[in-house]
Amino acid sequence: MYVIAACPCCGSEDLRRWPAIVSPFIANHACGTGPTHANLCECHGCSFRFFDTRLTDSEVENLYAGYRGETYFEARHRHEFWYSRHVHEGIGNDPAEMVSRKENLAKVLGDRSQSISTVLDYGGDRGQFIPDGLGTDRFVYDISDAKPIKGVAGLTSVEGRQFDFVMLAHVLEHCSEPRQILRSGQRGLLASHVGAEAIRHLRTGRRDDRQTMLEMRTAAVRALRDVGGRKFRM
Ligand SMILES: [Zn+2]
Repeated sequence: MYVIAACPCCGSEDLRRWPAIVSPFIANHACGTGPTHANLCECHGCSFRFFDTRLTDSEVENLYAGYRGETYFEARHRHEFWYSRHVHEGIGNDPAEMVSRKENLAKVLGDRSQSISTVLDYGGDRGQFIPDGLGTDRFVYDISDAKPIKGVAGLTSVEGRQFDFVMLAHVLEHCSEPRQILRSGQRGLLASHVGAEAIRHLRTGRRDDRQTMLEMRTAAVRALRDVGGRKFRM
């Protein structure tokens, strides 16, 4: 683990800190140590909250090797009783969630999907969240060893490749250095799921989220306008 002194989103060093402890599961399974001190921080520049202890690349590899496999389940369940077999098996496998995410993203893309041939789901597990019928060449890149679903090819590296559309859904919160991930794909990593999530939340009528979601949706739709006709180099 290493410690950061600035916000991983905006770079501000104007932070509020609260004492915290690294999760025993993370400390043990990823770092091979016991729980240690950390700080929960809130950035006064952008309001992002984060822990200042971050995982190194090799620790990230430890965490995601065999991600959500049996060894992972046993290690996590030993420390976190709420991480039950039911929770374990539901993550990434809920049929209703898969349909909802695919349909919402397809709606956000609309007619733009016709100009998309190559699709990458970056950090996309088995590629099960790529909308049906989107693209002719469908790829997934994930540091776990999850086996891609039929019709999706797994990539071990995306460097130097180009795609018409790149999905980045629920990935940044797993990254020690999220800005590096965004820079690597330039604007190609659109966090397109943001738009889909926004629509879903708006429909469920959670009023406290409404303004935030509207802003997120506006940003995502603005970014998606550029999808047609350009390639995203990784
Ligand atoms: Zn910040």
